[in-house]
Amino acid sequence: MSQQTVLLVEDEESFIEAVRLGLSREGFAVEVARDGHEALEMFERCQPDIVLLDVMLPKMSGIDVCRRLRQTSDVPIIMVTAKSSEIDTVVGLEVGADDYVTKPYRIRELVARMRAALRRSPRDSTGEIALPNSDTIVVGDVALDPEEHVVTLRGEVVPMPLKEFDVLRLLLTNAGRVLTREMLIDRVWGSDYVGDTKTLDVHIKRLRSKIEDDPSAPTRIITIRGLGYKFERPKRTESA
Ligand code: CA
Repeated sequence: MSQQTVLLVEDEESFIEAVRLGLSREGFAVEVARDGHEALEMFERCQPDIVLLDVMLPKMSGIDVCRRLRQTSDVPIIMVTAKSSEIDTVVGLEVGADDYVTKPYRIRELVARMRAALRRSPRDSTGEIALPNSDTIVVGDVALDPEEHVVTLRGEVVPMPLKEFDVLRLLLTNAGRVLTREMLIDRVWGSDYVGDTKTLDVHIKRLRSKIEDDPSAPTRIITIRGLGYKFERPKRTESA
C-alpha cells in the first residue's frame, strides 16, 4: 500500500511533535513547514496528498496560503484554527479549504476528517488507482475475500481462477470508478505485458458469465466505451 504524505503547516513546536507522532502511527508520512512561505515551498517540493494548515502562521497567514494553493491545486486542505470563531472567518472568506478543525483536537478525529477529505478528493478519481489490501471487499451482493481467495454472490461461492480473481478484486476495490484497460492490464498482468489486449476482454466476459444475472446485459461490470470498465455500485433502494 502506498504511503500518503501530509504537509503539516504549523508553527507551535509542541503541536508539531504531537501531530507528527500521531499521524506517523496512522501510517502517514509527515512533512513539516513552520511558516507560510515554507509551506508553499514545501508543497512544490513534496507534492503532499493532503495539507493540514494552521490559520495563524508567521510570514503569511494560513488563509493566504490556502488561496495560493488553490490557484494551482485541488489537494485536500484541512484548516486548523485556535478558536472556533476563526473557523467562521475562514468559512466566511471561502478560501477553498475542504474541512476545519479547532485546537485542541484529537488525532483520531483529525485522521477521520483527513480520510474523509482524501476520499472526496477529485485526485482520487483521476490519479492513482486504489490498490487492494487484505480486507474482504463487499459491493452489493458480491463479496471477495483475498485471504481465503473466495468470491461469493448472494452468499454462494463462485469458483474463480487467479487472473479473473485479480481483475475482479481491482474492480471491486475501485467500485464506482472507471478503470482504464491500461490500468487493469498493468496491475493484473504487469506493465511489461506484451500479449493480446483481448485477454482482458476474455476475462471480463468470463467474470460476467459468473456474477451477472444476464451476462449479455451486465449491471455490475459495466463497459465504458473507449475507456475501460467499472464495477457499478448498487443503487440505493428507497428503504435503505
Ligand atoms: Ca499558529
